[in-house]
Amino acid sequence: MSDVWVERVTKSFGPHKAVADLSLAVAAGELVAVLGPSGCGKTTLLRLIAGFECPDSGTITIGGRRVAGQGEFVPPEHRRVGMVFQDYALFPHLTVVENVAFGLAGLGRAERRRRTRQALELVGLQHKASNYPDELSGGERQRVALARALAPEPAVVLLDEPFSNLDEALRADLRRDVELILREAEATAILVTHDQEEALSLADRVAVMRDGRIVQLGSPEEVYARPASRWAAEFVGDVNVISGVSRGECAETELGTFDLPSPTPAGPLQIAVRPEQLELVADSQGNAEIVDREFYGHDVLYRVRHETGRTLLVKTPSLELFEIGRRVHVRPARSAVAAPVD
Ligand code: ATP
Repeated sequence: MSDVWVERVTKSFGPHKAVADLSLAVAAGELVAVLGPSGCGKTTLLRLIAGFECPDSGTITIGGRRVAGQGEFVPPEHRRVGMVFQDYALFPHLTVVENVAFGLAGLGRAERRRRTRQALELVGLQHKASNYPDELSGGERQRVALARALAPEPAVVLLDEPFSNLDEALRADLRRDVELILREAEATAILVTHDQEEALSLADRVAVMRDGRIVQLGSPEEVYARPASRWAAEFVGDVNVISGVSRGECAETELGTFDLPSPTPAGPLQIAVRPEQLELVADSQGNAEIVDREFYGHDVLYRVRHETGRTLLVKTPSLELFEIGRRVHVRPARSAVAAPVD
């Protein structure tokens, strides 16, 4: 598998820049999730890499070969790119094995059989080889689509919202399967999603995209714990943005003191506090009241009204439950580190 370089690529539709001066380098064998809200340009970015769109400016390089830009344009069929779509895009009149073999037309018969068998094994569907797509579950269809994308041994696999047609339980299982399959194939993969949990749980790095640009690129832990901006903090998960005063290594707020991830100049600042970075203590004289709660089994998300009038999100393990209306004390969880945001 190969590395992919997108360098300063812009693509406009009329006056609207769907992708704006965007750069992204994906290493060989790396799994990068592009995470952003609807309409931010994620699909356009994938289509540019695949060769279904031509950039207005900038260059795209796959495995050291320039495929777009500076007068070059390699068509999709010659880019060695495998695609997996939300709606599977399987041929209904072909069996599983025929679907997987479809992209291998140029190869000899023995090689086609070898690669088809290998791809079906990789996704664990050898036993469904003679079935038709409408005889498969959604998860199985998506695994066939992945086998079809991998069989030609592409330089890069591009996945566009591959799990969004599946129900929640199946999605979590298939997500893990797909990650393992891509890792076993040592695939370079770029996955587009608007689902934060999906991006964080699956990818080596997450590119957070907004209005055609990447606003943050980092490991899932970095993107979650050290958001680049208030917008990124709010997009990537539940968050409380709290005013405080930096004392260098820590920030003092009306809720208490939070450690800062790195020394920060003294003075006023805003910090992004995730709900699990706060904790609740039963206290009839406490500084807050429970106004709502969502029970998730392993943990509980509370909305509490603080004495300052603001509502805070607090996530706690479900070991101790607080009733709505209960008086509590909200404070920073032990060793809570909260990053400054603009
Ligand atoms: P979603 O998650 O809803 O699929 P997205 O992040 O994938 O969104 P894109 O499909 O890349 O977003 O679209 C980005 C912007 O470019 C949108 O405003 C869209 O309307 C516009 N756009 C995309 N393709 C075209 C096209 N062929 N012609 C005109 N405008 C387009």
